[in-house]
Amino acid sequence: MKYCKCCILPDTKPGVRFDAEGVCSACRSVELKHTIDWNARASKLKEICDEVRGKNGSGYDCIVPVSGGKDSMFQVYMMSQVYKLKTLAVIVVPHLQTVEGIENLNALVENLGVDLIKISPRPSTLQKIRKKALISIGNPNYAEHRVVFAAVARAAIFYGAPLVVWGEDIGTEFGGTVAGSSLTGSAEDLINNDLFREADFDDFVKNLIPENELFFYHHPEKAEVEKNRVKSIYLGFFLWWDGYKNYEIAKKYGFSGRKAGPLSGNIINYDNIDEKLCEIHNWLKFLKLGFWRPTDEACYQIWNGRMTRAEAVGLVKEKQYEFPIEYLDEFCEYHDISRDQYFSIQEKWRNLDIWHKPNGIWRLKEELN
Ligand SMILES: [Zn+2]
Repeated sequence: MKYCKCCILPDTKPGVRFDAEGVCSACRSVELKHTIDWNARASKLKEICDEVRGKNGSGYDCIVPVSGGKDSMFQVYMMSQVYKLKTLAVIVVPHLQTVEGIENLNALVENLGVDLIKISPRPSTLQKIRKKALISIGNPNYAEHRVVFAAVARAAIFYGAPLVVWGEDIGTEFGGTVAGSSLTGSAEDLINNDLFREADFDDFVKNLIPENELFFYHHPEKAEVEKNRVKSIYLGFFLWWDGYKNYEIAKKYGFSGRKAGPLSGNIINYDNIDEKLCEIHNWLKFLKLGFWRPTDEACYQIWNGRMTRAEAVGLVKEKQYEFPIEYLDEFCEYHDISRDQYFSIQEKWRNLDIWHKPNGIWRLKEELN
C-alpha cells in the first residue's frame, strides 16, 4: 500500500490514481475545485430552478432524496428555502434506523416545512439480498444504492416532478477520477450506471427473489424518464460542497450529531449516523482495501483545510483498528447469523496481500505514515 503525500488515501482505493509526485487524484480534484467560477455555477442553478418552478402546476417542482443526514437537510434547505421550489422529500427508509436518524428526519420535515414520502422496501426481500451479498461478495449494502436510485426515479415520474436534486457527485467529492465525473452537473449518468449493472443484478437475484418483489429495485427505462422530462442534477456541481458547512446549516434546523459521540473507528459524530447496518459494511471495506471511515473522514477534513496531514495520521492510526462493535448484535440478528458466523465470514474478505498477523494481532503490513 502506498499513501498520498498530501492526504492519506491509499492506492488501494478503486478509481484513485497517483501522479509522479505521489499525489492522489482526489487531491488534484480539490485543487481544480478552487479554480471553478462558483458564481457562474450558482447562476446556472438559479436558471434551472426558475425553469422548473411552477412547471408541474399545483404539484411538486422538485424531489430531494433524503436520508435524514446533514447533507440531505442542506439539500432540502437550499431547494425549499433559498430557491423557493415546492419540494417533496423522498426517503427509502433504512432497515434499522437510529434514534438520531428518526429525530433528524422529523426535524427536517417540521423545521423546513416540506412533505415527505417514505418508501419502505419489503424487509424480507432486502434481508435475503443483503445476506447473500454479505456472504458471496462481502458487500452487504450491494443493493442499497440501487433501491434509492430506482425508487426516487419512480417517485419523480409518479408525482410529475421535473427535477431531482442529488447531493454531491461521489466521483468528484470522494476521490474518484475527475474525467469520469459529470462535467455539466447532470446526474443522468446514474441511470446509465444503473442500467449497466442491471444484468449483474438480475443474475444475483435469480432463484432468490421472485420478479414481482423487485419493483423498487428496477430503475425505470431511460425512455420513460426522458418522456416524463425528469432532469437530475448534483447540487455539489453548482455550489461549493462541504459536509461540515452542510452540518452547520443543518444544525440550525434541528439536526443533531450522535449524542454518545463518534462511533468506534470514527473521528466525527455527525456523518452516517442515521442507520445501523452501514458500519460493518464499511469495516469489510477495511479488510479488503486497508482503509475505512477514519481515513475517509480525515481526508475530507484535510481537503477542506481543517486538519493537517500529520494530525490525520495520528488520529487514524489511533482509530482505524477499532471494530464497530455498537451494532454488531443487531447486524447479526438482521442477517440471521451468529457472532461466530459473522467473524468467519469477515475473514473470507481479509486481503492477505495487505494484512498480516504479528504477535497474533491483525495489522496492515504497510502502516499509514
Ligand atoms: Zn491525496
